[in-house]
Amino acid sequence: MTTPDPLTPVLTRRWGLPRSWSLETYEQHDGYAALRAALAAHPDQIIQLVKDSGLRGRGGAGFPTGMKWSFIPQGPDGAGAKPKYLVINADEGEPGTCKDIPTMMADPHSLIEGCIITSYAIRAHFCAIYVRGEALHCIRRVQGAVNEAYAKGYLGKNILGSGFDLDIVVHAGAGAYICGEETALLDSLEGRRGQPRLKPPFPATSGLYASPTVVNNVETIATVPAIVAGGSDWFRSMGTERSPGPKIYSISGHVERPGQYEAPLGVTLRQLLEMAGGMKDGVPLKFWTPGGSSTPLFTAEHLDVPLDFEGAAAAGSMLGTTAVMVFNETVSVPWAVMKWTEFYKHESCGKCTPCREGTYWLEHILHRMVAGQGTPEDVETMLDVCDNILGRAFCALGDGATSPITSGIEYFRQEFLDLCAAQSAVAQPEQLAELT
Ligand code: NAD
Repeated sequence: MTTPDPLTPVLTRRWGLPRSWSLETYEQHDGYAALRAALAAHPDQIIQLVKDSGLRGRGGAGFPTGMKWSFIPQGPDGAGAKPKYLVINADEGEPGTCKDIPTMMADPHSLIEGCIITSYAIRAHFCAIYVRGEALHCIRRVQGAVNEAYAKGYLGKNILGSGFDLDIVVHAGAGAYICGEETALLDSLEGRRGQPRLKPPFPATSGLYASPTVVNNVETIATVPAIVAGGSDWFRSMGTERSPGPKIYSISGHVERPGQYEAPLGVTLRQLLEMAGGMKDGVPLKFWTPGGSSTPLFTAEHLDVPLDFEGAAAAGSMLGTTAVMVFNETVSVPWAVMKWTEFYKHESCGKCTPCREGTYWLEHILHRMVAGQGTPEDVETMLDVCDNILGRAFCALGDGATSPITSGIEYFRQEFLDLCAAQSAVAQPEQLAELT
């Protein structure tokens, strides 16, 4: 097995190969070699390796992966012992986020190999991959890869003669954003309406069917084979000390070449823009999200903020899902904020009052504001509503809904006020048409 060069892409390195999704191509490019190495080691050594690597969750929150795995109570299987589960959150739904579906389409075996290694490490014999319901093409692709892995002895009983057994089920969600919240996902997987559970207990102690469960994002687990192959020092040679490793940034909006760009954590928007061919038609940047619409907006002042967990937070936002949505100066901030708020209001599961009622009223206020019927007090009212959601909602959806509004007002307050003072609608006919 060759150690991947830190200067070459790690997570996306197979994406351009012919039939990159097939087992044949995967095996020709070191595929499943890390699994063989992992099965020859003790499960605890794998947990320690991932801890040493500093890998942090790629779903948005950045929780240390090895630490999460080590929360799973260990001990012999057998009578009385609760089963342990691995659940992959492949319900990628954060606006602008497009990294997990491309990973599963281009390189599904990296996820499956990661699932087997992780299950072995945490002593799970069942793994569910919960894929976003609308992504039918992706569900088929992952199922096809799981079938190939079974046929070749990488899944099922006595994997590669190791004595370790694992089954993987690919489960289709039904397209609700809330089911990307890990406990709502677990409810949905159990056949119930997907709504968040109270945390704690965290899934690591009481997850799927009230058993110890690791819930990890696709990109997190697809990174694991590379860590096993390359080692923790190699992994730490990329990124920053507290946010090590490579990351897939999905870039959309007003750039010349939108798409997925792999870079070490800590890359800046300035560097990402260079990779993506710069601003579309050279029209200047106005605002952007570092990690989806749930992360506070940034502006042109933030071009050199290191996009790692600490750097984004120190500059007043969050790394989130590294969904970089770029908007040029032609875009009205209140209009963009209204579109995101419509999304949160639509996707609020209704379980808690702050989120259910708050997103409803925020959408109403923004609708009238953008239609030219707002009042200057509306800005303060929105901030007050946000204040009553933030930290008071049942899960992160409510908090996320406030981010574009509070940060939009922080950086572009005058644009909201001008809209109200002039009693003039945002002059974008196709946008207004949607309001009527
Ligand atoms: P969180 O910080 O509550 O938890 C992160 C992870 O760490 C979870 O798996 C949780 O179980 C675990 N954890 C935290 N504390 C723990 C403890 N004491 N013991 C055991 N486990 C513990 O964050 P969250 O609510 O799961 O996720 C919020 C993030 O989700 C946001 O940062 C947002 O960017 C992201 N997000 C992603 C998408 C997407 O499509 N990928 C969509 C919406 C939101």
